Amino acid sequence: MNNFCSACGSSVPADARFCPACGVGTRFSQPATATRQLFRPLYDRRIAGVCAAMSRAWGWDIGLLRVLTVICGIFLFPLTEIVYLACWIGIPEELLAPPLL
Ligand SMILES: [Zn+2]
Repeated sequence: MNNFCSACGSSVPADARFCPACGVGTRFSQPATATRQLFRPLYDRRIAGVCAAMSRAWGWDIGLLRVLTVICGIFLFPLTEIVYLACWIGIPEELLAPPLL
């Protein structure tokens, strides 16, 4: 998997120490797919979209995540509910723009 130059944004081989395009730096950011931001989608949600946000950002199975959330909500009460509320407040809502998929 290639990295991306933090200076010019061009693709850089994973083992490269300098950007072949601009020659800058040894610190390359991860590909955009690995740094997708958390946001709560407007439509694919059940309560507040917290599970949907996590499954989209990190590639988790949304059904499994929801089942685990409910199970944890029962057995870890009220810890899961507090975390869920914190995520509800902390994770921004998706903007009214079409997804870039
Ligand atoms: Zn560069």
